[in-house]
Amino acid sequence: MSKILILGAGIAGHTAASHLRRKLSREHEVLVISPNRNFQWVPSNIWVGTGRMKSEEVFFPLEPLYKRKGIGYTQAKVVSFHPEGDASDQKGFVTIEYLYGEKAGVQENVNYDFLINATGPKLAFELTEGLVPGYNKAFSVCTYEHASHASDALHLLISEIKISGKKAKILIGTGHPKAT
Ligand SMILES: Cc1cc2nc3c(=O)[nH]c(=O)nc-3n(C[C@H](O)[C@H](O)[C@H](O)COP(=O)(O)OP(=O)(O)OC[C@H]3O[C@@H](n4cnc5c(N)ncnc54)[C@H](O)[C@@H]3O)c2cc1C
Repeated sequence: MSKILILGAGIAGHTAASHLRRKLSREHEVLVISPNRNFQWVPSNIWVGTGRMKSEEVFFPLEPLYKRKGIGYTQAKVVSFHPEGDASDQKGFVTIEYLYGEKAGVQENVNYDFLINATGPKLAFELTEGLVPGYNKAFSVCTYEHASHASDALHLLISEIKISGKKAKILIGTGHPKAT
């Protein structure tokens, strides 16, 4: 029996978990660890940002689905990797930290036989001066929450333009190449 640990429940991690659960017999454990309790279909954040979809339409909660499918799920973030184990455990393990609820701030070790690291890009807005979402009229569509704020701002601007007839300039682009 093997324990497969998947870090991240984004497009890569969720796809890996679904395929592994389908292909492996139940004697093997598939465990997903991710800080966000929802799966989000990131590409559709474009439609959230323009107001054509609601943020609730681009995500769903992971836990009920994983329970049904027999995939383990822990809501936490990984803080360190120990592929060669330590003095007390020769198996590789990661240290995780709980972010919410009674266990918030608590750290524990989770060992594995196989590890898939699918924690995605780092959204490093600060690498581009002035691009931090919410400041200086800068908005992002990288997460459904960002996209929802972008949509509110866009529609406020559109209504101002309609009412006052003023002209506005909207700049659309990407940030620093090291941001993802
Ligand atoms: C607006 C937008 C539109 C896009 N459109 C397209 C498109 O049309 N086609 C296309 O191919 N690509 C598109 N992309 C890119 C695509 O969405 C990404 O390439 C894809 O989401 C990357 O998947 P991933 O699983 O690697 O990372 P993510 O989907 O970002 O998932 C990472 C996961 O890791 C978790 N995580 C983060 N840190 C930790 C940690 N410390 N411990 C545990 N878990 C952690 C996160 O919570 C998340 O669940 C788009 C991106 C954006 C922003």
